[in-house]
Amino acid sequence: MSTFQSPKGTFDLLPPDSATFLAVREAMAAPLKRAGYGYVETPAFEDTALFKRGVGKSTDIVTKEMYSFTTQGGDEVTLRPEGTAPTLRAALQANLDRGGLPVKLWYSGSFYRYEKPQAGRYRHFSQVGAEALGAEDPALDAEIIILAADAYAELGLREYRILLNSLGDKECRPVYRATLQDFLRGLDLDEETRKRAEINPLRVLDDKRDSVQKQLAGVPLMADSLCGACKAYHEEVRTLLTAAGVAFADDPKLVRGLDYYTRTTFEFVHDGLGSQSAVGGGGRYDGLSEMIGGPALPSVGWALGVDRTILALRSEGVELPGADRVDVFAVPLGDEARRRLFETVTELRRLGVSADFAYGNKGLKGAMKSADRSGARFALILGERDIAEGVVQVKELASGEQETVPLSGIVTTLQGKLA
Ligand code: AMP
Repeated sequence: MSTFQSPKGTFDLLPPDSATFLAVREAMAAPLKRAGYGYVETPAFEDTALFKRGVGKSTDIVTKEMYSFTTQGGDEVTLRPEGTAPTLRAALQANLDRGGLPVKLWYSGSFYRYEKPQAGRYRHFSQVGAEALGAEDPALDAEIIILAADAYAELGLREYRILLNSLGDKECRPVYRATLQDFLRGLDLDEETRKRAEINPLRVLDDKRDSVQKQLAGVPLMADSLCGACKAYHEEVRTLLTAAGVAFADDPKLVRGLDYYTRTTFEFVHDGLGSQSAVGGGGRYDGLSEMIGGPALPSVGWALGVDRTILALRSEGVELPGADRVDVFAVPLGDEARRRLFETVTELRRLGVSADFAYGNKGLKGAMKSADRSGARFALILGERDIAEGVVQVKELASGEQETVPLSGIVTTLQGKLA
């Protein structure tokens, strides 16, 4: 053990769990690749102003959770707390919005929020995200939700629900906002919530406290105030989802914690996770591009939490892929044998057979222990007498059966045994 520990709210990924992590990330990306989404990678930090403007000044993320600092050169930067604003920034910077639309992108990486750590909530976490930029089409909203559902199906996750809502657009949302504000002003709310009601009243709907929820019993809902265009749009999204066999529940109070959403919003919630129940979420953000100084670019996207998805899979008892084992483990006895077997191992690997080697001078007993630990199917054991006779011992580790085979054809022999 060293003097140092991973910082609070973070954890290391190590074998064998790290293999599960990679497999989950891969499974989330697979449906996106099949649907024409291209990979995007942006820096781990951005100008602080991008998130202030993009995510919203009154959000928890911006007010409490950002890792922001001033660089040696005086730049104000922030470790990315989310991936939508950076992806959109990158697409606009490269003028992708002037080519064929929509531009469909996916990403995978680390995100940082200074949160109060608890199970499923970390200060450093991992997301896979998808963004479809530059098209206002209910089929695109449906596509992106279906792709997330397909990713979860591929992983074998079952006990989750999709919550769906529409937050309206720039026509009907302001009218609703005013109606909601009037209602909230009549309630008995604490100072902070009252302030929130003035800056971003929709977020009060999301307040988890009983004392607030009780008072929200008769609250006016966005669903009842949608304009004709938003209502028709939302109906079409629902129809397409249903036709695709993707079940969802309407949740008229779903608002999500970021300010940029318009129209379609959704969340994937899992019941086996306790309080941090959202495994993923997203929605349409038609105004975000303009908020960060770009042209009008209606878009839709989501982010799925890799860490929380793994917790959800575990809570359902889903069998998760473990670390790959090597096929062959080489145990040389003596210097000449080391050279010969090292060469064999290199050749095997180049031919696509996974192989490892007993490094360090462990002696036969120690080396065989390493071979067992590696999980390899076969150990190759080569001693001086074997070299003299032109043979090598092949031991099947599970059964303990050992046979002597010609050293010259060992690669072919192993390929045959492993086929
Ligand atoms: P959000 O951008 O907040 O909607 O987050 C999207 C998804 O990322 C969530 O549904 C979680 O699965 C995951 N996520 C967000 N914040 C955290 C966190 N602090 N720790 C772990 N996962 C997180």
